[in-house]
Amino acid sequence: MPPSSLTPQEIIDLDQQHVWHPYAAMPNGVRCFPVHSAKGVEIELTDGRTLVDGMSSWWAAIHGYNHPVLNNAATQQMERMSHVMFGGLTHEPAVQLAQKLVQVTPSQLQHVFYCDSGSVSIEVAMKMALQYWHNLGGGDNRKHRFLTVRGGYHGDTFKAMSVCDPVNGMHHLFSSVLASQIFVPRPQVGYYSDDWDESDLDQFKQTLEQHQDEIAAVILEPIVQGAGGMHFYHPNYLRRVRELCDEYNVLLILDEIATGFGRTGTLFASEHANIQPDILCLGKALSGGFLSFAATMTTTKISQVFAQGEAGVFMHGPTFMGNPLACAVSLASLNLLLDDQNYNWKQKVHAIEQQLQTELEPCRESPLVQDVRVLGAIGVVEMKEPFDMRVMQPKVVDQGIWLRPFGKLLYTMPPFIMEAHQLRKITQAMVALTRRKFP
Ligand SMILES: *Cc1c(COP(=O)(O)O)cnc(C)c1O
Repeated sequence: MPPSSLTPQEIIDLDQQHVWHPYAAMPNGVRCFPVHSAKGVEIELTDGRTLVDGMSSWWAAIHGYNHPVLNNAATQQMERMSHVMFGGLTHEPAVQLAQKLVQVTPSQLQHVFYCDSGSVSIEVAMKMALQYWHNLGGGDNRKHRFLTVRGGYHGDTFKAMSVCDPVNGMHHLFSSVLASQIFVPRPQVGYYSDDWDESDLDQFKQTLEQHQDEIAAVILEPIVQGAGGMHFYHPNYLRRVRELCDEYNVLLILDEIATGFGRTGTLFASEHANIQPDILCLGKALSGGFLSFAATMTTTKISQVFAQGEAGVFMHGPTFMGNPLACAVSLASLNLLLDDQNYNWKQKVHAIEQQLQTELEPCRESPLVQDVRVLGAIGVVEMKEPFDMRVMQPKVVDQGIWLRPFGKLLYTMPPFIMEAHQLRKITQAMVALTRRKFP
């Protein structure tokens, strides 16, 4: 391991002086914890403490850290090349990964567009939908808006932001430049509810009917709304959305950046409703959390109109598109996940789900707790009041675990390789942390 040239305190001081963190102010108001290394499900801090990681680094590191299979894939690929441009050139990792993605995602999806991050894959999906209608309509730009539900999260770039929840995303700050999209209330009937209620779709249906001529696509996170509030909704909602999109001639974009690759108990969340999207966005766990990588996939029905249009091509092509290192690691991650004999992700996620259900149940006894929700390897405790993060974050670390609460939510999305005794440490801490109010 390379030696450290800075003391822990120097790292903290320089960090606070110069380094901007996600959704943070500068000079940094919140003190960050410097990490020395990470292995398996543990993060080791520079002060020597180790934390059991319940976040998978924002839901990406499904196999934990420093996994030998992923490390090996990266090392081997590095010896050939870490990068070459993708314009006019191609390589084995890119085509092998595409072949694999086409195999494991819903069958209509045949074409893969690689990009660098989840937000960009959403930009690509939205541009694809717009250009599709433009090409199809002989230059007609009427279908240029997007319909979505409130409570969503699709990323931080401008077009992705425009379909995020308008309140959470503070759209009013950016209203002069933000595209105005069409919102309906978020689905109300929960995932586990036995009583599906068709009226949950009333607003969606009416709005779609009313605006069909100007809507290019519906965009949704299937089944689980992630960073917008961790709500799980009924598969019938998704199933009916698919039918209505067909009926009213609009495309369906599914954002599986958070839900993809097993997180909800099925390989993709669309499988809960047994539907096929027209465009699919993947990110986060695509590379097993090893590095930033994402993909947008689509059908031949959509891709085939691109050669006809005014541009004759799809107008997008990032510099680091199809990065060989990212492709090689993603392929290794996917192969590891799907190695049924040795890995058995389904059984792992199912075991995590059962344990979360049992061990988070006591949280309900706290008068401070509003709701407890579990689906697949996702465990959420929703409080009645928001946490004060400056107080809460050190309390979490004091428990020897790593969680990153936001708003009213304390939640875990552990790596799939987490063992029962490690997960117990997390659930026990969550029960303790939600039992009393911290000043
Ligand atoms: C994280 C996330 C994104 C954005 O991905 P980035 O890699 O952060 O740009 C988009 N959609 C969903 C559902 C996400 O969870």
